[in-house]
Amino acid sequence: MRKKQFKAESKKLLDMMINSIYTHKEIFLRELISNASDATDKLYFKSLTDDSIKADKDSLKIRIDLDKENRTIKVSDNGIGMSAEELENNLGTIAKSDSLDFKKENADDDNAKDIEVIGQFGVGFYSAFMVADKIEVVSKAVGADVANKWSSTGVDGYTVEECEKDSNGTVITLYLKEDTENENYSQYLEQYKIQELVKKYSDYIRYPIVMEMSKEVPDPEKEGEYITEFNDEVLNSQIPLWRKNKNEIKPEEYNNFYKQKFYDYTDPTLVIHSKVEGQATFDALMYIPSVAPMDFYSKNYEKGLQLYSNGVMIMDKCSDLLPDYFSFVKGLVDSADLNLNISRETLQQDHQVRIIAKAIDKKIKSELAKMLKNDREKYEGFFKTFGTNL
Ligand code: ADP
Ligand code: MG
Repeated sequence: MRKKQFKAESKKLLDMMINSIYTHKEIFLRELISNASDATDKLYFKSLTDDSIKADKDSLKIRIDLDKENRTIKVSDNGIGMSAEELENNLGTIAKSDSLDFKKENADDDNAKDIEVIGQFGVGFYSAFMVADKIEVVSKAVGADVANKWSSTGVDGYTVEECEKDSNGTVITLYLKEDTENENYSQYLEQYKIQELVKKYSDYIRYPIVMEMSKEVPDPEKEGEYITEFNDEVLNSQIPLWRKNKNEIKPEEYNNFYKQKFYDYTDPTLVIHSKVEGQATFDALMYIPSVAPMDFYSKNYEKGLQLYSNGVMIMDKCSDLLPDYFSFVKGLVDSADLNLNISRETLQQDHQVRIIAKAIDKKIKSELAKMLKNDREKYEGFFKTFGTNL
């Protein structure tokens, strides 16, 4: 098997990608899951127009498998898969995004309107080299007879060879790096860590993300003793609350979502859910807490709204979305047409964000005015808590 070289510029790029583009190593998982979701979307899209391809919606899922002994993480999907040529083109060429091409090609197709392909920069995959010193990608394109394995240890190139795989889709195996003084890679082998990362970044991926979870349960045969039970669990909630119709959402759903996501024990004073179409298209779900957050008056307090793009969390606290006088507002914004930075961790300084921020500012003001008019007592309570801020 002949080893092929990354093109010269690619070598430099790959090194840059691995070492300097990303601030948070943990986003590798977000990128692999996003790719698996894209591959599943593509298969589903294809099945709508090609009768030979069946994609039963219920069987489409993404799997994560952890293996502590061998220090591997596997991310698998039963999506569209890749042929040998596609493995070379997509994973051998840095900054080539087949997903972006797919989006462009099908932009006018009516079937594609429900599809939200995430990829666009063609670099996300390589982020896995931040935590792995070897990556294997076993893939079988839908309808193909043979499967192939792409394998690489990073800058020194990659190999592609035929291999066995029963069904279409892709299995990506990361061989985690050894821990160093400053980096704990082993944490990614812990189920709670993976659970936390999926919740944080990929909770609204539209396909179930499944992992086998172990749990200690009382032994039914020996009293007082415990056995380990293994069960597949779905880690993500899939449907973003804010995408549902307002009249289908109960007040306690709004409140529970708030308490869970923003770590508060008390229900918020005000829920603002708005869907905006026009100059900028976005959904916003915002809350005014009824008590000031614990760290509100400390220097460490950071204002901001969470920012999502196509169901994927991009920023935890986007401060540009809130003026200082509304720094107490909690919530999130989801928009499909943001200009993301290549690491997808931040935004390009962006016209779009300013438009969204302006709309949000106006919306909060009008909701507060409404509260003042309709429920003076409640407003006074609000004013007592946050009035000095205004
Ligand atoms: P992007 O997702 O921005 O296109 P990536 O570097 O994450 O860039 O992935 C590069 C390309 O590799 C994708 O556009 C896609 O064509 C292909 N790819 C990556 N992961 C998968 C997968 N699990 N199944 C099928 N194709 C994949
Ligand atoms: Mg990607």
